[in-house]
Amino acid sequence: MDPNCIFCRIAAGQIPSAKVYEDDQLIVFKDIHPKAPIHLLLVPKEHVESLMTATPQHGPLVSRMLFLAPQLAREQGAADGFRVVINNGPGGGQEVFHLHMHVLAGPRPWKQFF
Ligand code: 5GP
Ligand code: ZN
Repeated sequence: MDPNCIFCRIAAGQIPSAKVYEDDQLIVFKDIHPKAPIHLLLVPKEHVESLMTATPQHGPLVSRMLFLAPQLAREQGAADGFRVVINNGPGGGQEVFHLHMHVLAGPRPWKQFF
């Protein structure tokens, strides 16, 4: 837990969020500035900055995030597919330096993401 990290603070319940899922390793909540009708953030409870600092030990965690995406997208009403985005580092457009996966879905048009 990094007390200066907004996603650590959301995971710890110190900052409110529109939570849609939680387990021992992950918390999932709605993006505060959605770029699509459905825009979820899948966030590990462990503070890992990005895929650039993740190690092979994080493999099962990242895999779990990926395979949770279709279930959550479906539960949120995405009938015909979804997009997964992971921004890494300033060069990748990352703004919150706690690893997270965007899941975007729903009727188009969507807001510009890139
Ligand atoms: P990044 O650019 O780092 O991949 O994405 C960070 C995302 O976190 C952005 O889409 C932004 O809207 C979202 N975000 C930033 N702060 C908060 C917050 O306090 N609550 C929620 N729910 N989303 C946030
Ligand atoms: Zn963090």
